[in-house]
Amino acid sequence: MKVQMVDLKGQYERIKTDVDNAIQEVINNTSFINGKQVAEFAVELAKYNNVNYAVPCANGTDALQIAMMVLNLQPGDEVIVPVHTYVATAEAIALLKLEPVFVDVDEKLFTISVEQIEKKITSKTKAIVPVHLYGQCADMEGILDIARRHNLFVIEDTAQAIGAEYTFSDGTRKKAGTMGDIGCTSFFPSKNLGCYGDGGAMLINDEQLAKKAKMIASHGQSIKYHHDIVGCNSRLDTIQAAILNVKLPYLDDYNKARQEAAAIYDQEFHNMEEISIPARASYSSHVYHQYTIKVKGVNRDALIDKLTENGIPSMIYYPIPLHRQKAYLQNNSDAVNYPITEELSKTVLSLPIHTEMTKDMQDFIVSGVKESIKALK
Ligand SMILES: *Cc1c(COP(=O)(O)O)cnc(C)c1O
Repeated sequence: MKVQMVDLKGQYERIKTDVDNAIQEVINNTSFINGKQVAEFAVELAKYNNVNYAVPCANGTDALQIAMMVLNLQPGDEVIVPVHTYVATAEAIALLKLEPVFVDVDEKLFTISVEQIEKKITSKTKAIVPVHLYGQCADMEGILDIARRHNLFVIEDTAQAIGAEYTFSDGTRKKAGTMGDIGCTSFFPSKNLGCYGDGGAMLINDEQLAKKAKMIASHGQSIKYHHDIVGCNSRLDTIQAAILNVKLPYLDDYNKARQEAAAIYDQEFHNMEEISIPARASYSSHVYHQYTIKVKGVNRDALIDKLTENGIPSMIYYPIPLHRQKAYLQNNSDAVNYPITEELSKTVLSLPIHTEMTKDMQDFIVSGVKESIKALK
């Protein structure tokens, strides 16, 4: 049996006619840049997320960079980020000559540790960037409370959690990426809402911030050739927007398919002493961008080799933590400062999860995982 981490081809086959027609329409109109599909997608994306504005851009990394430009962060300002995340989160900060300040994550939930944030706040701290890692929201109520008390901006990195929902203690529910000042997401092909190339967007409630985000993504102009602020060139292609217009109505079904596959893994693995299944936060739904287990009592890397032998792909997100990356070494880059992240980099393992998982496929993966572990005991 052929198993993949994600099955983009199978997903495409089910919507092929609509996608092909949408792409062809863009080509017929040669409206490759800023075609009407981009504006349509922005409206639909905002509606889906129950947020006032969605501002499309070229990719998720740009979304983070533009968000920090919108909030007028200045060189030397400190921005708090989880150290267990994809590099893009810290990269956007460093590019603008801001200082990424790393914070360890929660041992069970993998998202930024709220208790650790407050210890890292200085007079230079200007923003917190929580990452809704693997598809589950960080503890936003705690983070927003700290931000309010210290007058900090909150930029959510929701590249992995589009469609996840957060429930506040008063019962209010909000979509991932709509709770802070700006939410940044990505439409990289393998993300939960993926296009067929690069794409990204910012989710914003405040009208002025949204206007500014749109300007910055478009060379700092709102009227052609009137460049009021320094911006960049970060557009969502019309072809990508057309594809996203076809796919957005399926996002809830896609997330549900991932949740169903995760529930089967949970059921099969929860009693195994060698596997910690992903913990669930009480305050967030989980859209399982990744199904990430912790491997205990057997060597994780040996398990990967066994799985590969048995035809089961798996991935480590992320094998080298940010504090040990050459480009991001800091005064406090010692491993002892980030014990949880250090541990996770040695024990986490993401198993195949996607929208096209069949029962046969998942049976094959589950028995392959169980056999591989047995062989290592
Ligand atoms: C994918 C991802 C990004 C960056 O998105 P791109 O569209 O690839 O630039 C940022 N943060 C996280 C957590 C991601 O997973």
